[in-house]
Amino acid sequence: MKVYGLTGGIGSGKSTASRMFRELGAEVLDADVIAREVVEPGTPGLAAVAERFPGVLGPDGRLDRTRLGARIFGDPAERAALNGLLHPRIRERFLEQAQALADAGVTRLLYDVPLLIESGLHETMAGVVLVWVPRDVQRERLMHRDGLDAAAAEARLAAQLPLDAKRAHAHWVVDNSGGLESTRAQVRDVWNQLRARD
Ligand code: ADP
Repeated sequence: MKVYGLTGGIGSGKSTASRMFRELGAEVLDADVIAREVVEPGTPGLAAVAERFPGVLGPDGRLDRTRLGARIFGDPAERAALNGLLHPRIRERFLEQAQALADAGVTRLLYDVPLLIESGLHETMAGVVLVWVPRDVQRERLMHRDGLDAAAAEARLAAQLPLDAKRAHAHWVVDNSGGLESTRAQVRDVWNQLRARD
Protein backbone atom coordinates (compact mmCIF):
# COMPACT_ATOMS: atom_id res chain seq x y z
CA MET A 1 0.00 0.00 0.00
CA LYS A 2 1.22 3.49 -0.82
CA VAL A 3 0.92 6.10 1.95
CA TYR A 4 0.83 9.73 0.86
CA GLY A 5 1.26 12.63 3.27
CA LEU A 6 -1.36 15.38 3.26
CA THR A 7 -0.27 18.58 4.92
CA GLY A 8 -0.59 22.35 4.94
CA GLY A 9 -0.29 25.11 7.49
CA ILE A 10 -2.79 26.37 10.04
CA GLY A 11 -5.71 27.86 8.14
CA SER A 12 -4.43 26.81 4.69
CA GLY A 13 -7.41 24.54 4.08
CA LYS A 14 -5.99 21.09 4.88
CA SER A 15 -9.20 19.99 6.59
CA THR A 16 -11.20 21.30 3.65
CA ALA A 17 -9.04 19.38 1.14
CA SER A 18 -9.06 16.27 3.33
CA ARG A 19 -12.88 16.28 3.25
CA MET A 20 -12.80 16.60 -0.54
CA PHE A 21 -10.43 13.62 -0.86
CA ARG A 22 -12.77 11.56 1.33
CA GLU A 23 -15.73 12.55 -0.84
CA LEU A 24 -13.84 11.07 -3.81
CA GLY A 25 -13.49 7.79 -1.92
CA ALA A 26 -9.99 8.27 -0.52
CA GLU A 27 -9.07 6.59 2.74
CA VAL A 28 -7.63 9.28 5.02
CA LEU A 29 -6.14 8.73 8.45
CA ASP A 30 -5.93 11.85 10.60
CA ALA A 31 -2.91 12.23 12.90
CA ASP A 32 -4.84 14.60 15.20
CA VAL A 33 -7.56 12.01 15.72
CA ILE A 34 -4.99 9.28 16.42
CA ALA A 35 -3.17 11.61 18.81
CA ARG A 36 -6.38 11.92 20.84
CA GLU A 37 -7.10 8.19 20.73
CA VAL A 38 -3.77 7.26 22.31
CA VAL A 39 -4.63 9.28 25.45
CA GLU A 40 -8.25 8.21 25.83
CA PRO A 41 -9.18 7.19 29.39
CA GLY A 42 -7.91 3.71 30.21
CA THR A 43 -5.05 3.77 27.71
CA PRO A 44 -1.40 3.12 28.64
CA GLY A 45 -0.68 6.42 26.85
CA LEU A 46 -2.78 8.42 29.27
CA ALA A 47 -1.25 6.60 32.25
CA ALA A 48 2.25 7.43 31.00
CA VAL A 49 1.43 11.11 30.47
CA ALA A 50 -0.27 11.40 33.86
CA GLU A 51 2.75 9.86 35.56
CA ARG A 52 5.27 12.13 33.83
CA PHE A 53 3.11 15.27 34.13
CA PRO A 54 1.26 15.06 37.47
CA GLY A 55 -1.90 17.17 37.71
CA VAL A 56 -2.93 17.07 34.04
CA LEU A 57 -6.01 14.88 34.54
CA GLY A 58 -9.35 16.62 34.91
CA PRO A 59 -11.92 15.60 37.55
CA ASP A 60 -13.52 13.28 34.98
CA GLY A 61 -10.22 11.38 34.53
CA ARG A 62 -9.70 12.76 31.03
CA LEU A 63 -6.65 14.62 29.85
CA ASP A 64 -6.93 18.36 30.50
CA ARG A 65 -5.25 19.64 27.33
CA THR A 66 -5.16 23.24 28.50
CA ARG A 67 -3.22 22.28 31.61
CA LEU A 68 -0.90 20.00 29.69
CA GLY A 69 -0.34 22.72 27.09
CA ALA A 70 0.61 25.18 29.81
CA ARG A 71 3.17 22.70 31.18
CA ILE A 72 5.01 22.38 27.87
CA PHE A 73 4.47 25.89 26.50
CA GLY A 74 7.83 27.55 25.92
CA ASP A 75 9.71 24.59 27.42
CA PRO A 76 11.40 22.54 24.69
CA ALA A 77 12.63 19.86 27.10
CA GLU A 78 9.17 19.21 28.51
CA ARG A 79 7.69 19.26 25.01
CA ALA A 80 10.29 16.72 23.89
CA ALA A 81 9.44 14.54 26.89
CA LEU A 82 5.76 14.60 25.96
CA ASN A 83 6.51 13.86 22.32
CA GLY A 84 8.71 10.98 23.42
CA LEU A 85 5.69 9.46 25.18
CA LEU A 86 3.16 10.16 22.44
CA HIS A 87 4.94 9.77 19.11
CA PRO A 88 5.78 6.05 19.34
CA ARG A 89 2.18 5.34 20.38
CA ILE A 90 0.78 7.45 17.54
CA ARG A 91 3.06 5.68 15.11
CA GLU A 92 2.06 2.24 16.39
CA ARG A 93 -1.65 3.05 16.16
CA PHE A 94 -1.22 4.53 12.68
CA LEU A 95 0.54 1.35 11.52
CA GLU A 96 -2.23 -0.82 13.01
CA GLN A 97 -4.94 1.16 11.23
CA ALA A 98 -2.99 1.27 7.96
CA GLN A 99 -2.45 -2.50 8.15
CA ALA A 100 -6.16 -3.09 8.71
CA LEU A 101 -6.93 -1.03 5.60
CA ALA A 102 -4.28 -2.89 3.59
CA ASP A 103 -5.79 -6.20 4.74
CA ALA A 104 -9.16 -4.96 3.48
CA GLY A 105 -7.63 -4.38 0.05
CA VAL A 106 -6.93 -0.64 0.20
CA THR A 107 -3.99 0.21 -2.06
CA ARG A 108 -3.46 3.90 -1.32
CA LEU A 109 -3.90 5.94 1.82
CA LEU A 110 -3.59 9.60 2.70
CA TYR A 111 -2.08 10.45 6.09
CA ASP A 112 -3.25 13.89 7.21
CA VAL A 113 -0.52 15.34 9.43
CA PRO A 114 -0.37 19.06 10.29
CA LEU A 115 3.37 19.10 11.05
CA LEU A 116 4.35 16.41 8.53
CA ILE A 117 7.37 18.27 7.22
CA GLU A 118 8.46 19.87 10.51
CA SER A 119 8.57 16.36 12.06
CA GLY A 120 10.50 14.83 9.16
CA LEU A 121 7.78 12.26 8.59
CA HIS A 122 7.44 13.36 4.96
CA GLU A 123 10.64 11.45 4.22
CA THR A 124 8.79 8.18 4.81
CA MET A 125 5.83 8.94 2.53
CA ALA A 126 5.30 7.78 -1.06
CA GLY A 127 4.64 11.43 -1.89
CA VAL A 128 3.44 14.66 -0.29
CA VAL A 129 0.32 16.70 -1.10
CA LEU A 130 0.57 20.28 0.19
CA VAL A 131 -2.46 22.54 0.58
CA TRP A 132 -1.02 25.99 -0.06
CA VAL A 133 -2.28 29.58 0.07
CA PRO A 134 -0.35 32.87 0.05
CA ARG A 135 0.52 34.01 3.56
CA ASP A 136 -1.87 36.98 3.59
CA VAL A 137 -4.79 34.68 2.68
CA GLN A 138 -3.66 32.20 5.34
CA ARG A 139 -3.59 34.92 8.01
CA GLU A 140 -7.00 36.30 6.91
CA ARG A 141 -8.71 32.89 7.03
CA LEU A 142 -7.11 32.01 10.34
CA MET A 143 -8.25 35.31 11.88
CA HIS A 144 -11.76 34.75 10.57
CA ARG A 145 -12.04 31.08 11.56
CA ASP A 146 -10.54 31.36 15.04
CA GLY A 147 -11.58 34.94 15.90
CA LEU A 148 -7.98 36.15 16.24
CA ASP A 149 -6.47 39.58 15.71
CA ALA A 150 -3.61 39.96 13.24
CA ALA A 151 -0.86 39.71 15.90
CA ALA A 152 -2.27 36.51 17.40
CA ALA A 153 -2.69 34.96 13.96
CA GLU A 154 0.87 35.94 13.02
CA ALA A 155 2.20 34.34 16.23
CA ARG A 156 0.56 31.05 15.27
CA LEU A 157 1.94 31.24 11.74
CA ALA A 158 5.42 31.95 13.11
CA ALA A 159 5.38 28.66 15.07
CA GLN A 160 5.27 26.64 11.81
CA LEU A 161 7.48 26.31 8.78
CA PRO A 162 6.10 28.78 6.20
CA LEU A 163 4.00 27.22 3.42
CA ASP A 164 6.38 28.65 0.84
CA ALA A 165 9.21 26.63 2.41
CA LYS A 166 7.06 23.47 2.52
CA ARG A 167 6.57 23.65 -1.25
CA ALA A 168 10.11 22.35 -1.75
CA HIS A 169 9.03 19.02 -0.19
CA ALA A 170 5.70 18.68 -1.99
CA HIS A 171 5.05 16.47 -5.00
CA TRP A 172 1.60 17.99 -5.51
CA VAL A 173 0.51 21.49 -4.50
CA VAL A 174 -3.19 22.26 -4.16
CA ASP A 175 -3.58 26.05 -4.46
CA ASN A 176 -6.51 26.82 -2.15
CA SER A 177 -6.44 30.60 -2.66
CA GLY A 178 -9.38 30.55 -5.06
CA GLY A 179 -12.92 29.33 -4.53
CA LEU A 180 -13.84 25.89 -3.25
CA GLU A 181 -14.71 24.67 -6.74
CA SER A 182 -11.18 25.46 -7.93
CA THR A 183 -9.80 23.52 -4.98
CA ARG A 184 -12.15 20.62 -5.60
CA ALA A 185 -10.98 20.39 -9.23
CA GLN A 186 -7.34 20.32 -8.14
CA VAL A 187 -8.05 17.68 -5.49
CA ARG A 188 -9.78 15.55 -8.11
CA ASP A 189 -6.78 15.94 -10.41
CA VAL A 190 -4.32 14.89 -7.67
CA TRP A 191 -6.55 11.96 -6.71
CA ASN A 192 -6.64 10.78 -10.33
CA GLN A 193 -2.85 10.99 -10.49
CA LEU A 194 -2.52 8.96 -7.27
CA ARG A 195 -4.90 6.33 -8.64
CA ALA A 196 -2.82 6.12 -11.81
CA ARG A 197 0.27 5.31 -9.72
CA ASP A 198 -1.08 2.09 -8.15
P1 ADP B 1 -6.71 23.97 8.09
O1 ADP B 1 -7.34 22.62 8.31
O2 ADP B 1 -5.56 23.93 7.13
O3 ADP B 1 -6.35 24.70 9.36
P2 ADP B 1 -9.37 24.78 7.18
O4 ADP B 1 -9.72 23.74 6.18
O5 ADP B 1 -10.04 24.74 8.52
O6 ADP B 1 -7.79 24.90 7.35
O7 ADP B 1 -9.65 26.20 6.47
C1 ADP B 1 -9.37 27.42 7.19
C2 ADP B 1 -10.58 28.37 7.06
O8 ADP B 1 -10.67 28.83 5.72
C3 ADP B 1 -11.91 27.70 7.39
O9 ADP B 1 -12.74 28.65 8.00
C4 ADP B 1 -12.43 27.32 6.00
O10 ADP B 1 -13.85 27.26 5.98
C5 ADP B 1 -11.92 28.44 5.13
N1 ADP B 1 -11.60 28.03 3.75
C6 ADP B 1 -10.93 26.93 3.37
N2 ADP B 1 -10.79 26.89 2.03
C7 ADP B 1 -11.39 28.00 1.56
C8 ADP B 1 -11.58 28.55 0.23
N3 ADP B 1 -11.09 27.94 -0.86
N4 ADP B 1 -12.25 29.71 0.12
C9 ADP B 1 -12.71 30.34 1.22
N5 ADP B 1 -12.57 29.89 2.48
C10 ADP B 1 -11.92 28.74 2.66
